[in-house]
Amino acid sequence: MATNVVIGAQWGDEGKGKVVDLYTEFADMVVRFQGGNNAGHTLVVERDGELEKTVLHLIPSGILHEDTRCVIASGVVLDPGVLIEEIEGLRAQGYSVEPDQLVVAENASVIMPYHQTLDVARESDDSQQKIGTTGRGIGPCYEDRVGRRAIFARDLTDEARLRRKIGSNLAEKNQILSSMGADTYETDELVERCLEWGEQLEPFVVDAGRLVDEAVQRDERVLFEGAQGTMLDIGHGTYPYVTSSHTTSGGVCVGAGIAPRDIGGVVGISKAYCTRVGRGPFPTELDNEAGEHLREVGNEFGSTTGRPRRCGWVDVAGLRYAHRVNGFSGLAVTKLDVLSGLDTVKICVGYTDEDGKRYDQPPSDPDLLEALDPVYEELPGWEDDITGVRVLEDLPDAARQFLNRLETLLEVPIVLVSVGPARNETIVVENVYH
Ligand code: GDP
Repeated sequence: MATNVVIGAQWGDEGKGKVVDLYTEFADMVVRFQGGNNAGHTLVVERDGELEKTVLHLIPSGILHEDTRCVIASGVVLDPGVLIEEIEGLRAQGYSVEPDQLVVAENASVIMPYHQTLDVARESDDSQQKIGTTGRGIGPCYEDRVGRRAIFARDLTDEARLRRKIGSNLAEKNQILSSMGADTYETDELVERCLEWGEQLEPFVVDAGRLVDEAVQRDERVLFEGAQGTMLDIGHGTYPYVTSSHTTSGGVCVGAGIAPRDIGGVVGISKAYCTRVGRGPFPTELDNEAGEHLREVGNEFGSTTGRPRRCGWVDVAGLRYAHRVNGFSGLAVTKLDVLSGLDTVKICVGYTDEDGKRYDQPPSDPDLLEALDPVYEELPGWEDDITGVRVLEDLPDAARQFLNRLETLLEVPIVLVSVGPARNETIVVENVYH
């Protein structure tokens, strides 16, 4: 099976964008299967001798490769305005974005302006639990999908259907919005906005599930690109501080419409340390100099929101759980270079409660997880700049020892190590598309 899934093994921002971009060189098709423009992939690619940075929130990063087909599958929630902006931005940078390179599932749910307004209103309402969402309407859009009120990408060119769906949705949404003191909407203005979006996006909107399946059955090399991370999965993450979609490998089947047997490899991405944005338990979080080192050297500020990320040591107990729910065939360790310059580095191998009871994986109750203390193994650090290293053998002994220990504790082979943001700053241990 020539398909691979790339999954964040932590709380997102693991550097999936770079790994996906690397694998995309070998892939015929790249598919986003969940989430929305709450993801932020930063790609640093050399063009005409200069390093150029591209930030993508919705379009699969495969778009930077001209021959790769990119799919936004039905499991994704789609903000049409953001998609149009990304297409225009890429074109302005000189990339071609044509309908044979990018397709959008006709049954992807559309994020409407009222979803975003509701998201922001809830996050600023003191009577509601704050999740720390990105305020982009992702959660409310998924709610409407489950509530069977979704407006699909294919509806954007159908005025009668838009009028009917928007009219009935607003009857409810406006009441909720006005009760929260937020802006309300008129059917006419939204129908008009949707039709404008529809006109621009129509060439890209197709039966994407069929296309993906055909590629899989032809044994093409398909890459499924996850957004966020395992611990943010709506069903298996630290609820309620989670995203509203399935970020784990099972999400590929429901989000792209392929059978479980069609999933080949599953590559988990983990930083050499750990970060989290927003609220919720984070057992290895550091509030000291080492944490500050990780934030500053790792530039741990959200690429979508600019928010400083919470930083801590790598958590193998958490990764063990991620392996359990995803079934990793390989692990990619990113940002190893960020650990350079620390006297010692730590690996969390489990947790204890106040009675000394040991946990080798996070308990499913996040409140319990919050109360646990991490158990660490401490290893020697290294001083050397490792961004120029391209084979494991050239790493300082301490860095190799760190990687070996991770691999042994997790029992998943390391297939890739990233030592810098650029495409070539990578140690490829094993090519998953061999
Ligand atoms: P994603 O959402 O999982 O793709 O993660 P982000 O794009 O938010 O985070 C990755 C950030 O780290 C980007 O700014 C990358 O350029 C950068 N990055 C990726 N891999 C490495 C690495 O190995 N070392 C360093 N220093 N930066 C990296």
